[in-house]
Amino acid sequence: MKDEELFEKLSYTRKNVYDVISKKEKSEMLDLCDEYREFLDMGKTERECVDLAVKMAKKAGFKPLDDFKTLKAGDKVYRINRGKNIFMAIIGTEDIENGLNICGAHIDSPRLDLKQNPLYEQDGMALFKTHYYGGIKKYQWTALPLSMHGVIFTKTGEKVVINIGEKPDDPVFCITDLLPHLAQSQMTKKMSEGVAGENLNILIGGMPTGKDVKERIKFGILKLLNEKYGICEPDFLNAEIEIVPAFAARDVGLDRSFVGAYGQDDRVCAFTTLKGIIDTKKPKKTAVAILVDKEEIGSFGNTGMKSAFFEMSVAELIEKIKGSCDMTVYNRVMSNSACLSSDVNAAVDPTYESVYEKNNSAYAGCGMCIVKYTGARGKSSSSDANAEFMYKVEKIMDDNNVVWQSGELGKVDEGGGGTIAQYVANLNMDVVDCGVPVLSMHAPFEVTAKTDVYMAYRAYKAFYKDR
Ligand code: MN
Ligand code: MN
Repeated sequence: MKDEELFEKLSYTRKNVYDVISKKEKSEMLDLCDEYREFLDMGKTERECVDLAVKMAKKAGFKPLDDFKTLKAGDKVYRINRGKNIFMAIIGTEDIENGLNICGAHIDSPRLDLKQNPLYEQDGMALFKTHYYGGIKKYQWTALPLSMHGVIFTKTGEKVVINIGEKPDDPVFCITDLLPHLAQSQMTKKMSEGVAGENLNILIGGMPTGKDVKERIKFGILKLLNEKYGICEPDFLNAEIEIVPAFAARDVGLDRSFVGAYGQDDRVCAFTTLKGIIDTKKPKKTAVAILVDKEEIGSFGNTGMKSAFFEMSVAELIEKIKGSCDMTVYNRVMSNSACLSSDVNAAVDPTYESVYEKNNSAYAGCGMCIVKYTGARGKSSSSDANAEFMYKVEKIMDDNNVVWQSGELGKVDEGGGGTIAQYVANLNMDVVDCGVPVLSMHAPFEVTAKTDVYMAYRAYKAFYKDR
């Protein structure tokens, strides 16, 4: 063997997925990404993603967990939590005490939420006040077409579902920004302060209505909301209305090798997890997919990963398989389980290379990324996966021709982040982060490589099948 070959054999090098996939795999990848773009367009909120997941699950033969008195191998079940969080499982042929194979992704994304009393009139315009959700660069959200999604209950208890700005003939909304001519003082501010959170106000109207009314523009909007949706202003006090980019997912690049869209963190891993479990036939261990809300604000709340919903659903599986669920059995199931915390990672950006450590970062196009630990300031708030589990996961990927890479989130002192892995780890199971590298993460238009989307799908499917 020549030294050159020996060096290649002994060293770690990333592969570009295009260099190793077949023609057939490439066409499977393109089909998957066509479906993925549709998923992104239909699922712009956690509620919409749960609705889509249910639709896909039902089509694949999954039924509500509550419909089953007992469960046996091969049964496919799902359970929804408050419309924003879903648990899915395929009962395995092995004893459930041997543990579950779980993939968990989050379906909430950074956005702007309407405040509870959002509507006001100023300078001949009607606007909505917002409170941003998750980590955003605020300046990125101005001067963009935005749509409005959510639910609101009227005084008579009717649930009104809002979805405005997605159809081609719908109106859209926007946050206006200062013209450069008058932005001298704004432009000298720090980027984090150039657009204040309190300035993320949505333009929603400008048509005066009625006589002898103090605020005629606001009156016009109130009348319109009442006539069209039966909503009065106090109804907003209960509402959950999310403002998101109005544009559709698109192919990016002359060679169409990327997908550009809002909300890919973490709907890219949610979609591929869903496809992974749906395409899993007769698993040995019980296969579980969990799509959670609230990751972007710390996994708090009853629909986030810190909620007991997941554990309660597992307890119910055990009870319906074994006839009862005592603590010892439950503990064995949890301890023997393994989880891929399916979440995105930062891809190296050629324009901002300096914040990445090149040997230990993920590259778009080099496959699914395994992230041993996340955290910031010295791995703080991270679940650092153990070597034994890392080896098992890596072996599954290699045995199933999944192109994968290792990557951590940027240079040691540049910042960091967390995922749901740490909360899953608290249940005393093995867990590691594993997902798709993303460019412009948390921006209104995020970018992923199609090859990495495809490899994430193959990774989750392989994990369900092989462990
Ligand atoms: Mn994420
Ligand atoms: Mn995120």
